[in-house]
Amino acid sequence: MTEHASDTATIDPIKRAVHAYREAFGEMPTRVAFAPGRANLIGDHTDYCEGFVLPIALSIGCACAVGSAEAASLEVVAADFNESTRLEVDGPIEPDDLNDQPGWARYAIGTFETASRAMRPASRGARMAIASSVPLGSGLSSSAALEVSVAMALKGLWDASIDGVDLARACQAAENNYAGMPCGLLDQLASVFGATDHAVRIDCRTMDIERAELPNRDVAEFVLIDSDVRHSHTTSAYAERRASCEGAAASLGVRSLRDVDTSDERIGSLPSDQRDAVLHVTSENDRVLRFIDALAAGDLKAAGERMVESHRSLSETYRVSCDEIDVLAELVNASDDVFGARMTGGGFGGWLVALIRPGSGERLMERVAPAYAERVGRNATLRHIVPSDGARLVESWS
Ligand code: ADP
Ligand code: MG
Repeated sequence: MTEHASDTATIDPIKRAVHAYREAFGEMPTRVAFAPGRANLIGDHTDYCEGFVLPIALSIGCACAVGSAEAASLEVVAADFNESTRLEVDGPIEPDDLNDQPGWARYAIGTFETASRAMRPASRGARMAIASSVPLGSGLSSSAALEVSVAMALKGLWDASIDGVDLARACQAAENNYAGMPCGLLDQLASVFGATDHAVRIDCRTMDIERAELPNRDVAEFVLIDSDVRHSHTTSAYAERRASCEGAAASLGVRSLRDVDTSDERIGSLPSDQRDAVLHVTSENDRVLRFIDALAAGDLKAAGERMVESHRSLSETYRVSCDEIDVLAELVNASDDVFGARMTGGGFGGWLVALIRPGSGERLMERVAPAYAERVGRNATLRHIVPSDGARLVESWS
């Protein structure tokens, strides 16, 4: 499978969100926003330790169409599920107020609430419809695409000024507090700050955000390979890893693992989960910077090696991979067409990102897919990456 032409992946959700809005509310929306999904090239499980990440925003994403409602009510339509919900908003919305809401509504209503707190609109009554081209729950961050599209559309509706980092933080707060996922800020920042033809280097301590050059397409390309594995226990495993990082930082008397001195002898006597957290996060931060340097120098071999090391650290040290993804990484990395491949995102299934020789993706899959099917009984598929701009208000949609 190849990624849709960028216009289809972007325009289709916009059209569907607008259509759903009109169907539900009998009028055109006032504002429409689009926010992309993301793939992280390197730097996973570092965002919540104030480390470095290097994502790309994709051409697939979520669209949100909004308008005001006269009464103090919020009405939300999820076009992809053909479902809708309604809630009174005459006071602050607390997470427990959403106990009877469907899962998807926690993301949308949670973002409405955190965005309201951040942007302080004069009146809160709103209607919205959302539609997405990001596959749900596969690791390309459909959740952040939804949150950022909602926050961006509300920003337009309320004519609010809020900077991109604060908008991303409001979206993260919604996911943390209303959807119950203790994620870092990577996905939301990637969706806000993506840039056409570039990756984005983010320092999650200083919030310095810079474009990073990608190899010329006639030299190498990044592709995504789906393992066809979706694991459901990610929230608790994710929370455990975060707790190990926070425990290690507390034991070493530092604010976050960003500050650890790797020659500190006390690391060796930490509980094993904390020691592994230190090893993964400090080495991964180092790899992000070396990977960026390697790409800038055109040293694809070195860049690929950092990806392979990153996968090994995530799998063997930090234990956030799974057997199927490890088999897929082994098969992909064995090919001469591949400089390096690694799991991307939170882990426990989802996608590999691979740096490959230009145009070799289909040939690669001809060998990898049958071998993967034979070993794990699943269907591996390829998706080309179209590095795209971050979230934006859409100018015209009628
Ligand atoms: P990922 O972000 O990797 O796709 P998550 O589990 O973090 O996976 O988020 C997926 C959840 O986000 C879905 O189960 C749903 O609740 C919500 N979501 C994402 N996109 C949509 C959408 N288009 N419509 C409704 N809910 C969505
Ligand atoms: Mg998500």
